[in-house]
Amino acid sequence: MTFNELKEYQPDAVNLLKRAVESNRLSHALIFASPGEVGEIALAMRLSQFLLCESPVSSLEPCGKCKSCKLFLENGHPDFHEVKPKGLLRAIKTSDMLAMIKSLQNTSHSGYGKVVIIHQAETLRKESANRFLKTLEEPTAKTYFILLTSRVERLLPTIKSRCQIFRMKPFSDEVLLKKAEKELKISGENLELVCLLASGRWRRAVQLSKNIDKYKELVKRLAEILSERDNATSSAVIFAKSILKEKKDDRKKFEEKSKKEISAKKKELSDLDPTVRKEIIAEFEMQLKSEQGAIERDDKAGLFEAMDALWRDVLTYKATEDADLLLHKFMKSAIVKLAGKYSEDEVIRNLNNINVVRGPTVYLNTRLDIILQGLLSQAASKSAEFTPLRAAIVATGL
Ligand SMILES: [Zn+2]
Repeated sequence: MTFNELKEYQPDAVNLLKRAVESNRLSHALIFASPGEVGEIALAMRLSQFLLCESPVSSLEPCGKCKSCKLFLENGHPDFHEVKPKGLLRAIKTSDMLAMIKSLQNTSHSGYGKVVIIHQAETLRKESANRFLKTLEEPTAKTYFILLTSRVERLLPTIKSRCQIFRMKPFSDEVLLKKAEKELKISGENLELVCLLASGRWRRAVQLSKNIDKYKELVKRLAEILSERDNATSSAVIFAKSILKEKKDDRKKFEEKSKKEISAKKKELSDLDPTVRKEIIAEFEMQLKSEQGAIERDDKAGLFEAMDALWRDVLTYKATEDADLLLHKFMKSAIVKLAGKYSEDEVIRNLNNINVVRGPTVYLNTRLDIILQGLLSQAASKSAEFTPLRAAIVATGL
């Protein structure tokens, strides 16, 4: 995508980049902070190509024809590096960071500098973050770093202070709707629901569109449990167990599927030298795990999003009594019922509780069932002394 095309998605960020380049104030270390998949990767790729281009056509567009551009577009530019998180935990490996840092000591192949993109930079472990910081402190000429993150608050303050931060915005309602209509396989009521829930985040829209019926079932189930109020605990336990079982089944299915894919890959590569084959297989296995890790994390985040959206609807209805303003219009009566059963203070307390646990539960390997159970029982309880959420937090060691 060209910068002109990217401007439709991120007008402010593109203009700021353009101004920084034109006035020669583009920092060698950039952070693209985004709410997730709103064009930041395409923007980072285009900027990288521009920075390596031998004869840019304008202040921000690469030529697309020079040797450097050609190598870049063929994915083979020797001065361009990407570091990505790997494995089920989806974290950047220290060894990958160290290898990247080491490679910077070699002179630039083309003489036009080097560019490094670090994906999901919030998953940098402390050791590699500190090593990286040293690299930033002693910049080599013409090396640019672009750190992509959807959790900029998780980056080390010392790294942030050395970077120029570009904030990507969620898509506007019009852009999201236009793109969703074109690219997602949903329409009518479901299309409207997905766009409302995603509120400008493309990644969430894609994820929801694939599982929209399941999502609707989930919110209905949550509303049923919460409407039981003080009797909700046993339903919450059953619900949490079923979610845990679902996750375990998904993991099992993934393991079986990847076993098959790996043995097929081994057959396909049977002519290769065993050492080379082993390396390729290990890389392939890591890639499968990374993909599964991302799906599992999105799934977990989706549960908290569903609860959050449900409570927001209850709050909206309490404030306006207008069912047309709800996100979940397909379950108006259940939301009206909840609005009658919960006070405004209780709804706000529940929204706060979700915020406290969602980050750590999604990003760390905690017992999701215990947290869910605690969160729902806490939400439904009328007693101020009843603190299952705190108990859950203690039990899972968050
Ligand atoms: Zn070029």
